[in-house]
Amino acid sequence: CGIVGYIGYREAYPILIKGLQRLEYRGYDSAGVAVFDQGIKVYKKAGKVSDLENFVKDVTPKGSVGMGHTRWATHGAPSDRNSHPHSSGDRKLTIIHNGIIENYGNIKDTLLAKGHVFKSDTDTEVLIHLVEDIQKETGLDLLEAVRITLTKVIGAYAIVIMSADEPDSLIAARKGSPMVIGVGKGEYFIASDATPIIEYTKNVIYLNDNEIAHIRRDELLIKTTDNDVQTPYIHELDMKL
Ligand code: GLU
Repeated sequence: CGIVGYIGYREAYPILIKGLQRLEYRGYDSAGVAVFDQGIKVYKKAGKVSDLENFVKDVTPKGSVGMGHTRWATHGAPSDRNSHPHSSGDRKLTIIHNGIIENYGNIKDTLLAKGHVFKSDTDTEVLIHLVEDIQKETGLDLLEAVRITLTKVIGAYAIVIMSADEPDSLIAARKGSPMVIGVGKGEYFIASDATPIIEYTKNVIYLNDNEIAHIRRDELLIKTTDNDVQTPYIHELDMKL
């Protein structure tokens, strides 16, 4: 339902929580965050963003790369374990997702036959296990493994993925579900709509359908799922808070 992401030089966690609060108006049943803090740390809870904050209070994650999600359940009941982010079997990869993966059942059956063990009832978790599987079989980097994963997926999505092997990167992609990238100086913001971004920057890129963004602190690369590099167009927002 709601997505926020941050990569830069500030503490990510407060930006993520504030962003999720700005997206609360959309409605949701659960909330979660992932932050690079000596590995990917994931905190997630059914309930309100304030319940997540209480849950995380004693361990406030430190780090300048992270992502947050508010879930509106479509596959799997609202619960702690079905909340996003979802991780791969080896826990190196983590995803948040808005939308629905329609062919998740077929993909899940194939992955179950290969020995993958799932920890949730969501369509989302299948995606991140597929990225893991493709990386294991091909040795491809994250961007390329995500690109190939998305060519196998039917459905609507906005996703953000983190990998413990690439701690200075976020991957974002969309098809049929909105995704905005805020462009700062040495930092980028990601969100499912501009409301979490406008207090930091007016410069935004609207990701198009079938585009994947590889986002580093000082570099943004956008490709299509057909592997064509795109030239991003930076819009200037004239929204007031
Ligand atoms: N289909 C996913 C789920 O049920 C994502 C739902 C959403 O857009 O929040 O977990």
